[in-house]
Amino acid sequence: MGQRAQRMQNGTHEKVTRLVRTLNLWHFVWLSIAASEAFTAVMSRLLRGRITSDYLITGGVVSLVVSTIVVYLIRLTRDAELRAANFSRTVLNSMKDAVSVIDVKDFRIVGCNEVFLRELGFQEEDVIGKTCYEITHQRSSPCIPPEESCPSRETVKTGAYAAAEHVHYTREGKKKYVKVSTNPIKDGNGEVTMVVHVSSDITEIKQLHLELERRAETDCLTGAYNRMKYEELIQKELERGERYGRPLSLVMFDIDHFKQVNDRHGHAFGDRVLKSVACIADEHKRKVDSLFRWGGEEFMIVSPDTDLEQAMFLAERIRTAVEQREFNGAGKVTVSLGITRLRTGDTADELIKRVDAALYKAKANGRNRVELLA
Ligand code: GH3
Ligand code: MG
Ligand code: MG
Repeated sequence: MGQRAQRMQNGTHEKVTRLVRTLNLWHFVWLSIAASEAFTAVMSRLLRGRITSDYLITGGVVSLVVSTIVVYLIRLTRDAELRAANFSRTVLNSMKDAVSVIDVKDFRIVGCNEVFLRELGFQEEDVIGKTCYEITHQRSSPCIPPEESCPSRETVKTGAYAAAEHVHYTREGKKKYVKVSTNPIKDGNGEVTMVVHVSSDITEIKQLHLELERRAETDCLTGAYNRMKYEELIQKELERGERYGRPLSLVMFDIDHFKQVNDRHGHAFGDRVLKSVACIADEHKRKVDSLFRWGGEEFMIVSPDTDLEQAMFLAERIRTAVEQREFNGAGKVTVSLGITRLRTGDTADELIKRVDAALYKAKANGRNRVELLA
């Protein structure tokens, strides 16, 4: 059967179902009377007013037959609907994932399964008629692509399956990572009217993944980023600097005479000093700056959108803060710092060589100081 013929057949079937569904007891009474009246009228016309009791009885029988058929159709439709609803509920509730059905007109939830309610901590009456973004994202506006992925919108657009990773929030505000997939429900004309939204909880695996990612890019002693992360970040910053001409500064620092600290107080004490120095640097840098453990007792700070004057200010603050910190009987610990800025056409190597030379200069000029190579 062609698509057009199929659509027409679907449309007719829907109309009949809708008509039968709307019939109630009063319709049935009126239909019976109408059938009886119609029969009597037709017979009266045929027999030119000679209506006998036979015809009235036959009219009654006709109305009885019509009403019986109507009642039968009503019951048949309602039984089928009840069976279908039971079947859908059983299927939905036997799924291990959270399922909701969303009306694409306004993203309101028209149905959901028990897992959906249990996972988010709601009762059915709390969610039916509410928008999916109110319930699952706990916000008052929908996700707007491309900044925020919305598989439901994608399914409406393409008429097909879509998927995305989302963050959902429970009623108590607990964060959950979920994998969302959506499938369309279409009307007789092939238009997407609703979306079946299935979300599987991937919080555990996601947290494990994030933790592995964090470990892969951080130094476990100090919590600063490692060299691998530096390589990744500096490439991005160089591209950004080249494209937008934004300033970028690097601050490299090294603990002065750290070997002596280890020798006098032991390696474990040295480790604690290292951690504290990293902590001081972390407290004094801005949020946009990134701190790296460069190796041994050397650290690097990458400061985007920062000119030399601002970098100098940051370096001085760190130097003073370390100098002023009391390291539990170890006496004074100081750091030397070198600064440089990104020059047009710099490679990553050239940048490192220059900041390293600036640090060397600070050591050579007496330590516990900041030197600059522009
Ligand atoms: P300078 O002022 O020239 O920097 O002198 P320095 O003694 O700090 O320099 P040097 O490079 O001679 O010594 C660095 C020391 O840092 C040697 C090494 O034992 C120590 N070190 C490197 N990594 C660690 C670490 O993870 N923990 C501890 N406790 N010490 C470390
Ligand atoms: Mg040192
Ligand atoms: Mg060193």
